[in-house]
Amino acid sequence: MTTFDDLGLAEVILRAFRDDGYVSPTPIQLKAIPLALAGRDVLGLAQTGTGKTAAFAAPIIHRLLAERRRPAPKTVRALVLAPTRELAAQIADSFRSYGRHARLSVATVFGGVGYGPQTQALARGLDVLVATPGRLLDHLERRAVDLSHTHVAVLDEADHMLDLGFVKPIRQILSRLPKDRQNMFFSATMPGEISGLAAEMLRDPVQVSVAPVAKTADRVAQSVIRIEAGAKRALLANLLADASFERTIVFTRTKRGADRVAQHLLDAGVDAAAIHGNKSQSQRQRALDGFRAGATRALVATDIAARGIDVDGVTHVVNFELPDVPEAYVHRIGRTARAGAEGIAISLCADDERDLLRAIERLTRQVIPVEDRRGTTPIAPAPRAHAERGHSQHGHAERPRGADGERPRGAQGRGPRSAPSGERGPRRAGAQGRPAHAHASQPSGASRGRSRRAKAD
Ligand code: AMP
Repeated sequence: MTTFDDLGLAEVILRAFRDDGYVSPTPIQLKAIPLALAGRDVLGLAQTGTGKTAAFAAPIIHRLLAERRRPAPKTVRALVLAPTRELAAQIADSFRSYGRHARLSVATVFGGVGYGPQTQALARGLDVLVATPGRLLDHLERRAVDLSHTHVAVLDEADHMLDLGFVKPIRQILSRLPKDRQNMFFSATMPGEISGLAAEMLRDPVQVSVAPVAKTADRVAQSVIRIEAGAKRALLANLLADASFERTIVFTRTKRGADRVAQHLLDAGVDAAAIHGNKSQSQRQRALDGFRAGATRALVATDIAARGIDVDGVTHVVNFELPDVPEAYVHRIGRTARAGAEGIAISLCADDERDLLRAIERLTRQVIPVEDRRGTTPIAPAPRAHAERGHSQHGHAERPRGADGERPRGAQGRGPRSAPSGERGPRRAGAQGRPAHAHASQPSGASRGRSRRAKAD
């Protein structure tokens, strides 16, 4: 396994990663960091939650340190453009965090706040400037900043920039930078206009892409139940006794585990089927058909088997065991909340899985609400028991349901992308309503967790 030590980063950066508890690089870091260190332009197809900020921040910090220069007044050594002020603030926090042993000057420039402090920060000259395009253009027009010494440029969330109408300002900004520079360009998707912009900005780029991670997670109400490993099966049967678990995918780590869990559910009177690589194609198909038709309420699957599952209307995902790789968590919970629906994900976490939970929380930038049920013996449900008992015990039952059983959309329109409205809030769960310049964490609803970034503030 490749470690951070193998990537060639300066020791001060590795130390900061260790401080943050990063053990191994995420896939985008593994791919992008060596290329960026070699001076290449990088086109990254990656979403928030993949670790992409460190993928560009670490090689930039490395380069800034290697050059051992101080920025002249009003100049900027590395520029990062981000679509929203919240994202800009988060990226700047990441630079401060990863560069905490490196004495870098980092500042943000975005709209909605006064010019004074930004102008002062620019006047001193900066190692790293993280900016939203509109306000940066204003500063350029006021001659508060000079980008002619900026030899590294990053464009983050380019597709979001397009949504917000920032393509023209970006072109204007890029025209002020020297031609001889390193570029990194990140986008979750590549619509035509964005690949055009990438082609203009990048020189002989290498493309790196990683599977989407955080997007669907935004619409999934997530919770964790702490429970002894040995009590999980009974708890699961108990949860599934609730009729609101209409179509549930239960994830296990192993094929044998999937079989055992499915059998336990059957014994408890829950229509369940296991699906994994040891099943024949026809067995898998039958299980899937039953699940799709609603006859099988619980499909017990391993991560690999679940890749082929294409079913809408999954109401719940239960992680019977947490995945070893945190990205898998996001893929799992993305099985619910498809086609614009909302969904519920419950993770059963035994004591020896707490590190896995922490890795997931770091990756998805949230703290998942936890209910501790250790030491409580779940009452085995009567076979075919139904919804006398809500599943409110773990905090997500308050979701209103229409009389027709339809799951209504979130009252606040929590879709990952609401209508463009200028330099505005982020689209990840848990960060809503957090003013970028106010450095405090804010709960954003009991069932939604809160922004993990607060730790860096
Ligand atoms: P990003 O995609 O850059 O928004 O990062 C998502 C989250 O993953 C952030 O909270 C980072 O602190 C965290 N993170 C980034 N890289 C790693 C890593 N190698 N190991 C663990 N967590 C990480």
